[in-house]
Amino acid sequence: MTEPIYLDYNATAPLHPDAQAAMQAAFGAPANPSSVHFHGRAARAKIEHARQQLADLIGGRAQDITFTSGGTEANNMVLAGFPTVIMSEIEHDAVRAARPDAMTIKTHSDGVISLPDLADKLAKLSPEQSAETLVSVMAANNETGAIQPISDIAELCHRAGVKFHSDMVQMLGKKQLNLSRLKVDFASFSAHKIGGPAGVGAVWSAAGLRPTSLIKGGGQEQGVRSGTENIFGIIGFGAAAQAASEQLDGLERLGCWRDEFEHKLKAAIPELHVMAEQAERLANTSALFLPFSVAEMAVMRLDLAGFSISAGAACSSGKVKSSHVIAAMGMADKAHHVIRVSSGWKTQPDDMLKLAEQLIEMYKHSQIR
Ligand code: PLP
Repeated sequence: MTEPIYLDYNATAPLHPDAQAAMQAAFGAPANPSSVHFHGRAARAKIEHARQQLADLIGGRAQDITFTSGGTEANNMVLAGFPTVIMSEIEHDAVRAARPDAMTIKTHSDGVISLPDLADKLAKLSPEQSAETLVSVMAANNETGAIQPISDIAELCHRAGVKFHSDMVQMLGKKQLNLSRLKVDFASFSAHKIGGPAGVGAVWSAAGLRPTSLIKGGGQEQGVRSGTENIFGIIGFGAAAQAASEQLDGLERLGCWRDEFEHKLKAAIPELHVMAEQAERLANTSALFLPFSVAEMAVMRLDLAGFSISAGAACSSGKVKSSHVIAAMGMADKAHHVIRVSSGWKTQPDDMLKLAEQLIEMYKHSQIR
């Protein structure tokens, strides 16, 4: 059987060979970075090297990075630190569930948040409230790929005297980041979306700030995140970050393949449309409204035909729940018909075209019945 074509990178990316090699090289040695002896110092050097590799990818300082168990923990650490939180309606559950009491910012039908609504909410805060408020808006949405106006949001927050956090899990490695220039206060990252292993992530905080410490213990990671570091995961994260830095220029080709794919589908299936098409989007992401099939069924059929893609946001149970992102865009009635196709470092030139052909075939079949 030929290997199915994997187009679900926004869920997780295949392990990058550089990450695999770096982890394999480190396996076996005793590696507690807190130990003062030779082995401990060697482990510490590897962690600091990985921190620098990630710092280079995000355009920030290594000392402002805290390694965590993933994007979820990174988000939770930041969100726990503020009495008042304002977030977008399209955040990942790793942000939404961390603060169900948050006020929400409206979304336009193109999947981009409303800046006037955010400005309005900020204007209503008293000076005392502003000092204790966090705004949390993701850099790019995991379902639609819609890129959010991060510098404008940062500017509004800065002027209002509130702190700004951005979940940059989906942006990492897909667009050039320069955190030392953006007026962002906190940012979250995850290794497994860029070809690193799952179960490791990071939170970056601007100089002088620190996220809330949720796990108490031995005071690792400058006292912010206790527990012996996940050294192999961190080494893999660092190597994947370096590989991503080296591949940033090559991302344009993913955008070309994506545009060709969407063009072919729209030409063959008149009622099909692309969610957030009017917005600036990640080059690798395509959220498609399929008029001829509910998403769950399409995902199963495509699975049988040898394609791994997803329906909206995948739930941990493997079941598909209705997408709060599509609902926030004012299209709740369409949510059950939206599939997500996302490519990445291992995608081959004709993978997307083969998927387009399969979808067109499925559409033709649905017309006959
Ligand atoms: N934030 C976003 C936007 C995501 O897409 C994900 C993963 O699906 C997360 C956070 C969670 O990251 P992790 O799986 O590392 O906990």
